[in-house]
Amino acid sequence: CGIIGYIGEKDVQQVLTAGLSKLEYRGYDSAGIAVHHGDAVQVNKSKGRLDELHHQLEPSPFSTRMGIGHTRWATHGPPSDQNSHPHTDAGNEFAIVHNGIIENYLEIKRDLAEIGYTFSSETDSEVISHLFHYLYEGNMTETIQKVVERLKGAYALGIVSKHEPDRLYAVREASPLIIGAGEEEALISSDIPAVLEHTRDIYILEDGEMAVLTKNDITLLQTKTGQPLNREIFRVDWNV
Ligand code: GLU
Repeated sequence: CGIIGYIGEKDVQQVLTAGLSKLEYRGYDSAGIAVHHGDAVQVNKSKGRLDELHHQLEPSPFSTRMGIGHTRWATHGPPSDQNSHPHTDAGNEFAIVHNGIIENYLEIKRDLAEIGYTFSSETDSEVISHLFHYLYEGNMTETIQKVVERLKGAYALGIVSKHEPDRLYAVREASPLIIGAGEEEALISSDIPAVLEHTRDIYILEDGEMAVLTKNDITLLQTKTGQPLNREIFRVDWNV
C-alpha cells in the first residue's frame, strides 16, 4: 500500500524505515525493505507493524547506497512473512515492491512454473520479480519494458537489481508514484510527505511512465517507447 525507495549517501535503512512510518496512515499489515548489498540484494520483511521489521534489522551494511521499502495491504495471499514485499527471484538478483493488483498473475505464474520457476509466496506481485529474472538480458530499461508488457492491472513498482548498484528504477500504471529530486540523492514514494525530510523538489510520475534514478540525476521515460520526457519540477511549499 506504500512504496519508498532511496539512492544516496545517507543511512539507507534509516531513510527507508522513516519513510515507511510516514506512509503508515495509508494502512498496512506487513512491511519490508531490500537494500543493494555488494553482490546481491538483501531483504528483510515481516508480517505486522514496523516495529517487527525494526527488530530484524542489523545496522546498514556500509556499502549500501540504495534500497526500496514497502508497506503491504494484502489483496492476494493473506498477511504473512512470505507474502510481504519486497519479492525477489531465486538468486536475489532483482527485488521489487509493488502497489496494486496484477490481474493476469495466475497465467504468468503458470507460464513461469512450466519453465522451472518456483514461488515462495501466494501474492500476485511475486511473478514480477521472476519476470525480471527471466527477461533480463543486460539492459534494465528494456527489461522493464518487456516485463510491463506482460502485466495487466494496476502497479506502482520500485525495482533494484544487483547488476546496477547505482540505479534505482520505478514504473507506474494506475497506482500513485512520485519522485523526489534531492541533492546527491533521489527518492521514490507513493506520497509526498514521505520524502519531504529530504527534498521539496518533486516529479509526479504519470501512467505509462518510468523513471531511472541515480543520486545525481533523474530520467523520466515513456515506458512503451523509451522516449525521454520533459517534466517540470514541482516545488512543495507546504508542510505536514
Ligand atoms: N497485490 C499486492 C499484494 O497483495 C500488493 C498490495 C499492496 O498494494 O500493498 O501483495
